[in-house]
Amino acid sequence: MKNYRMETKCVQGGYTPGNGEPRQIPIVQSTTFKYATSEEMGKLFDLEASGYFYSRLQNPTCDTVAAKICALEGGTAAMLTSSGQAANFYAVFNIANCGDHVVASSALYGGTYNLFAVTMKKMGVEFTFVKPNASKEEIQAAFRPNTKAVFGETIANPALNVLDIETFAEAAHANGVPLIIDNTFATPIHCRPFEWGADIVTHSTTKYMDGHGAAVGGCIVDSGKFDWKAHADKFPGLCTPDDSYHGITYVERFGKEGAFITKATAQLMRDFGSTPSPQSAFILNLGLESLHVRMKRHFENAIAIASYLEKHEKISWVRFPSLPSDSDYALAQKYMPNGTCGVISFGIKGGRAAAECFMKNLRIAAIETHVADARSCCLHPANATHRQMIDAELAAAGVSPDLIRFSCGLESSEDLIEDIAAALETI
Ligand SMILES: *Cc1c(COP(=O)(O)O)cnc(C)c1O
Repeated sequence: MKNYRMETKCVQGGYTPGNGEPRQIPIVQSTTFKYATSEEMGKLFDLEASGYFYSRLQNPTCDTVAAKICALEGGTAAMLTSSGQAANFYAVFNIANCGDHVVASSALYGGTYNLFAVTMKKMGVEFTFVKPNASKEEIQAAFRPNTKAVFGETIANPALNVLDIETFAEAAHANGVPLIIDNTFATPIHCRPFEWGADIVTHSTTKYMDGHGAAVGGCIVDSGKFDWKAHADKFPGLCTPDDSYHGITYVERFGKEGAFITKATAQLMRDFGSTPSPQSAFILNLGLESLHVRMKRHFENAIAIASYLEKHEKISWVRFPSLPSDSDYALAQKYMPNGTCGVISFGIKGGRAAAECFMKNLRIAAIETHVADARSCCLHPANATHRQMIDAELAAAGVSPDLIRFSCGLESSEDLIEDIAAALETI
């Protein structure tokens, strides 16, 4: 699939059936796999042979879909997880353990912020948050001797800041650590972070990749480019023997192309078990088949609605990085010249009360803790996903108390604009 274009990879990537085999990917709904001898199975447990033995670790349907996402991102190895939260947790915890430190952009999804700032802190992993538009010097100042990774979102949810991926990648590499990018909002259709220096990409596939509000899921993709061995002192988990697998060393056995994902599967999936069901992977694949068509339409609807809102007298501000008036327009044009996403944010004059009035009077868009669905939806983050944050933390995350996040679906943009206009009338 390497030489095909994105559209072809969306439709056919990851699976090439032989004669008489199913055209659609088979759902291998089996927890376990049979072997004729214990010796053959033993080789799988020692990671000496590759193959399936238990679906908590690996399943053929899930691997097929991971291979498609891997091809779309241009990586060398990938794994599905049961959620985007699991993907981000595994991606970081695979290289940063108790006593380690990570530099992250402060403009993050609320769930990711909580995972990092609260839960992983309890596990002994510390985070320093820097502004998404931090200079190289400001990022550099956040590093410590025990820093193991840098983390950011291509387009932050819900603040919609565009990360200067090249600057973050340069800072990470100058300190001998990888850059992990959550590419959920842009999807590989609009941005491929590996082409800008990122080393690991994560996704909440729950969003545009599934795109139909049907299956929660996540994915981790490795670019295969980060040279773990050159910084072996920082990454003992990849560069020294793993006692739980008879002393294999991941970088020696699987190379820099496969070590990261093999370790995450063999250790983290084995021990934490955030595995997706084959059924969910199948549903995700149906979404992926039309990702390129849908992203184009989500974006067209978003730019039409953002342009409309920008001119409306009841709207105090609009944030959409593809609007020429947006502060991140130049970054958006650089990293995503063909479009960003379908999510916009804006503030309504009159604060929280006006926002509530507007939202409850929408007829097409529903109030949901969700984005990136075929159906339009909206949310007031200060009252929902980010409600555990104090105002200073909200400000650091780029979320003002009046912010409304609006996820433009695939409906008619004329209908959506008429619906928004009518709801604004009620204020
Ligand atoms: C939704 C989301 C997540 C979390 O994903 P889940 O699938 O809900 O666990 C992580 N990152 C971003 C950018 C998201 O939008």
